[in-house]
Amino acid sequence: MSDWEAESGDEQSPGPRAEWRPPAAPSPRTRPWAGAQSQDRGAGDRWEVRGDRGRRGQRAGQPMAGGRGRGGGAGGPRPGPAREPHSQSPFLSFYMESAAVGTVIGRGGSKIRELEEISGSRIQILKGDIEVEVKLFGSHEAQLRAKELIQNLERRTTDQLNEARSDRGFTSKLSSSARTCPDTQPAKGGGMKAPHPVINWNSLRANREKYAAMKWAGLPPIKKNFYIEAETVINMTQEEITSWRKSNNNIICEDMIEGKKRQIPNPVCAFMEAFQHYPEIMANIKRVGFQRPTPIQSQAWPVILLGTDLIGIAQTGTGKTLAYLLPGFIHLDLQPVTRDKCDGPGMLVLTPTRELALQIQEECNKYSYKGIKSICIYGGGSRKDQISTVTKGVDIVIATPGRLNDLQMNNYINLKSITYLVLDEADRMLDMGFEPQIMKIILDIRPDRQTIMTSATWPDGVRRLSKSYLKNAMMVYVGTLDLAAVETVEQNVLVIPEEEKRSYTLHFIKSMKPEDKVIIFVGRKLIADDLSSDFSLQGIPVQSLHGDREQCDREQALEDFKEGRVRILVATDLASRGLDVHDITHVFNYDFPRNIEEYVHRIGRTGRAGRSGSAVTLVTRGDWRVAAELITILERACQPVPEELVTMAKRYEQNKMKKDYERELAASHGEGRRDRGQGRRGWNKRI
Ligand code: AMP
Repeated sequence: MSDWEAESGDEQSPGPRAEWRPPAAPSPRTRPWAGAQSQDRGAGDRWEVRGDRGRRGQRAGQPMAGGRGRGGGAGGPRPGPAREPHSQSPFLSFYMESAAVGTVIGRGGSKIRELEEISGSRIQILKGDIEVEVKLFGSHEAQLRAKELIQNLERRTTDQLNEARSDRGFTSKLSSSARTCPDTQPAKGGGMKAPHPVINWNSLRANREKYAAMKWAGLPPIKKNFYIEAETVINMTQEEITSWRKSNNNIICEDMIEGKKRQIPNPVCAFMEAFQHYPEIMANIKRVGFQRPTPIQSQAWPVILLGTDLIGIAQTGTGKTLAYLLPGFIHLDLQPVTRDKCDGPGMLVLTPTRELALQIQEECNKYSYKGIKSICIYGGGSRKDQISTVTKGVDIVIATPGRLNDLQMNNYINLKSITYLVLDEADRMLDMGFEPQIMKIILDIRPDRQTIMTSATWPDGVRRLSKSYLKNAMMVYVGTLDLAAVETVEQNVLVIPEEEKRSYTLHFIKSMKPEDKVIIFVGRKLIADDLSSDFSLQGIPVQSLHGDREQCDREQALEDFKEGRVRILVATDLASRGLDVHDITHVFNYDFPRNIEEYVHRIGRTGRAGRSGSAVTLVTRGDWRVAAELITILERACQPVPEELVTMAKRYEQNKMKKDYERELAASHGEGRRDRGQGRRGWNKRI
């Protein structure tokens, strides 16, 4: 007997016919098949054993009748003759590829349990030598839903297996050598386990392109250029272009292609110039009442509509979401293969946090365009609902990398259909450690897609990401590439002992005017909870936002703050980027952020949409590392620099020099302790 049900995507040859059943039910109320289960201890045991990671005896299944009808094709959905005691409809039966059984069952039965939960149908799998029968119980709708989910999984698994087989090219050799190879190990369950094939890396490398072409063969054609340049844009003089760019936050556009550079498209100065051929887009813009493109939009729209990959460097709040969304709508709508014929979404937006994902979806929903549907996929949201929506069919997926990677690995989402990819807030995604997930996600997206990447900063990590995932991109940046703190924010820095921070914050809150709205940033979730409960106990209405709160609580907190039901939000850096609350009057940095970039993002939460704002930052001795960088930011924005901060920066610099000097001495060869002492004396002389 093989243990085929244990591993997902297992390719082992099937054992004798066996009936597979779900594990022991927790209660007859929640698991309607509990009655059948108790009569079948053997099968129940098998599942339970998987959960325990143990292995017990397996039970030969009942013989199975019926011919093969793949995916319900030849066999088709056929009502079974019998009714389950608790089901409303006759059972539905169809046949599936035995190679996909492992995927459908999942590790320890986790996937089949999930399928049952999502569909509402009870699933029974009867395994034969060659074929596998699936029986579905429950209401007719539940049966159909389960069937669709199973067949999707089956299709993807067999596609992957076929790909893997053609990539390796050893399938047939493998099965014959397995029979003769002396090293072949007996597999658990009695059969002979196939040996690990020797991978010929040289040949794989040599044939890389061929394999890549095979992987992506058969995909529908893709169209990327939708730009018809307006006469007024064509006729701009070089002086007009330069003056427009300069007066619009100093827009700079660069061609990143190696070698001969292409011509940079002229910016558009009005919505009509970008979208005159797309009346529904124009109608939407008119409806929301925007007057003219923001600087990033003005230069990004011609680049994206031309089908070129784009790197957009701009702060949040600059209209960058619309900069990629509107061309994305056109791209989706005008693909050679229409949306209804696509087997999956056409556009994917990867973004670092749930809040940003929800905000992008909100923006997306504002512009109803030709029935384009979007879904938000993020950790903390109901996985079941997200799976259910995504399998029903959507055009745009807005996702945080972790959850999307989870659905991808479990074959709930097909990413091959994506032709327009957005990596939003790339710098933040890297900061949050999402690079491995992004890499895995992009492996499944066709390489000839169009890719847009946005970032507020341009550090090495983001450059690397752009080199790996964008092709011949153009870069548009607004403002300077180094850190420029928002000029509309008055910045106050207070150097204070750690133990006085709380009482100062309370004093600040008590001096707030009724129309003031403040976001108090703290370094840790625990402090957010501690401060907010402290304030609440003192009768101060407050909300808190951090990663350990339930999603519904996070949404409620944000909603209360946006609507003004509370005027104080205590938050971690989860809220430092992109949150679009227009009327925040103050940012209060209770704890200094991890780095200076985060400081700029935090204070950018106020002074938005033409308003002015104020930031108060508490700095303690422990923050001396960032004092010098903070001084640079303050000076650049013509803000007062406290004397204590200057002293702190000097002390840090001296200490650093001293440490470096000592390290150098310690590293210097053979001089030993005696020299270290001299080094110290030398250092003391220097200061
Ligand atoms: P974002 O940078 O994408 O977070 O956008 C910030 C805010 O600017 C959002 O509320 C957008 O609806 C708004 N916005 C986007 N484009 C424009 C525009 N051209 N004019 C005025 N507001 C805009």
